[in-house]
Amino acid sequence: MTITPNLLPWQEADWQHLVRYITGQRIPQALLFAGNKGIGKSRLAERFAHSLLCSETDANGLPCGRCHSCQLVNAQTHPDYIRLNPEEPGKTIKIDQIRHILSVLSLKPQYEANRVVIVEPADQLNISAVNAFLKFLEEPTERTVLLLITDKPSRLPATLMSRCQKVYFSRPDPEQVKQWLLDQGIKKDSDLLLSVSKGSPLLALDYAKNDTLELRRKCFDQWLDIAALRTHPYIVSEQWVKLDPGLLLTWITGWVTDLIKCCFQLPAEKLINRDLFEDLYKSAQTLELSHLYSVYDLMLTTRNRIDTQLNKQLLFEELLIEWARLNEK
Ligand SMILES: [Zn+2]
Repeated sequence: MTITPNLLPWQEADWQHLVRYITGQRIPQALLFAGNKGIGKSRLAERFAHSLLCSETDANGLPCGRCHSCQLVNAQTHPDYIRLNPEEPGKTIKIDQIRHILSVLSLKPQYEANRVVIVEPADQLNISAVNAFLKFLEEPTERTVLLLITDKPSRLPATLMSRCQKVYFSRPDPEQVKQWLLDQGIKKDSDLLLSVSKGSPLLALDYAKNDTLELRRKCFDQWLDIAALRTHPYIVSEQWVKLDPGLLLTWITGWVTDLIKCCFQLPAEKLINRDLFEDLYKSAQTLELSHLYSVYDLMLTTRNRIDTQLNKQLLFEELLIEWARLNEK
């Protein structure tokens, strides 16, 4: 049985693009997979990695599933298949981890096909790690391919970006995704799920399976409670820090964006959070547009700082205190 991930319905063109590297025998040293979270970048990278590792790919670039390499990939024990991730989610990839990988890469691949290193998320490489990889790319070991995956390509240094062939994943067709969600057993809220997940199918599916819309509603109510002085930013930030900070910041950005849209009298269907339209519209009536822009700017700064070593609870507190201040009469 193969563990090669199946192609998702919206990935056909991206896959054909990748396969041409194999069938044309012009495999780049480094590829950057960039696109929104939950769009299937990792799955496609793993599928491509399997093809690169197989010693007998077919005419369509698909792994044979029978060769020794394929067996090792399926058993997840292929020595030429290396994954580099932060030791803890949200942390940077440490230079020690890079050093270890580089020492492995200084030797030839153990099998006759390619060796693949998947780095995810590539935006979590610190500057020393980036420099180490750049040095490797200047004098690469033969048959070694780096696959860098990121949701935030703008955070990657230009020096590294310029060394990579880029594969940018665009937002899939919503109708195709809605059908796919239906095929996965998601029978309700598909429009809202897609809107809140910014059109990312795997994220939408994850939201549906984990009742994330309910959690979002609960957090939104707390956000309204702060505005109405029914609760304090300290109390809410203490609870929020236990949730996924990136997800919360995405939600808050969406709420503030929608409040700005409400100030411009845009209709509900133009909002990200269509289900929250009434509350957002009511809230927008009491707020100054210029103040909303200032909280939006603070949001962007917080998003850049949330992946650093700074205290996340304090970052949320700062943001929520600003939100409370905005609502003072
Ligand atoms: Zn094979």
